[in-house]
Amino acid sequence: MTQQVVAVGALQAWIRRFADLVAEQREYLTELDSAIGDADHGINMERGMRAVCEKLDTNVPATADELFKLVGMTLVSSVGGASGPLYGTFFLRLGAACGPRDAISLDELAKAFRAGVEGLVGRGRPELGDKTMFDCLHPGLEALDAAVAGKQTPAAAFSAAWRAAVAGRDGTIPMVARKGRASYLGERSVGHQDPGATSSALLFEAASAAFAASPLGPAP
Ligand code: ADP
Ligand code: MG
Repeated sequence: MTQQVVAVGALQAWIRRFADLVAEQREYLTELDSAIGDADHGINMERGMRAVCEKLDTNVPATADELFKLVGMTLVSSVGGASGPLYGTFFLRLGAACGPRDAISLDELAKAFRAGVEGLVGRGRPELGDKTMFDCLHPGLEALDAAVAGKQTPAAAFSAAWRAAVAGRDGTIPMVARKGRASYLGERSVGHQDPGATSSALLFEAASAAFAASPLGPAP
């Protein structure tokens, strides 16, 4: 049986595409954070992902664990606020779960993605319905697993995950925030889309776009 694999070059393309989307949506993410936070989410994420891309320009990681470790360490050190440690932990755990491989099967990548989200949950302790990035990541991950079980290609699987993540993101609008700065607003946070859930949906969008553009094929 053939197995869909994702090469480290495609994983790097994913990270760069995520950086591009974050940069394009910097003002929007910051605007969302100005409604229920402190108006820095787009600024934080753009600064962090720009630092990641600058490192990737001079240091091309040969394996998935090196790549994601670089991303995680850079986000932890260059992004302030709640989202730096949360995204940083996600990428560090993702890398540890991928291991020192130059290519990874889609099945293993989905499991590693889950390990990353579990790391983020261990750090921030969000629960579903708290109006955080987890309300986007969780449905995205569930859809990713279903697509992997359905033997879809990496691009199709992440595209399905993206659709579910977007629905999860939109689902944060009526929620009352119970974690992070937005929780200080209580009921006044209702009616606003969570900034972290919005940037999280870009992770799936970026993967879907990057994997569709990469020369992927069944492993020998
Ligand atoms: P800060 O709130 O410190 O300014 P950011 O504005 O960069 O940090 O990020 C805010 C986002 O972080 C929120 O929209 C939410 O999605 C996420 N967030 C905050 N606290 C938590 C938490 N405990 N668990 C999960 N996500 C959280
Ligand atoms: Mg903020």
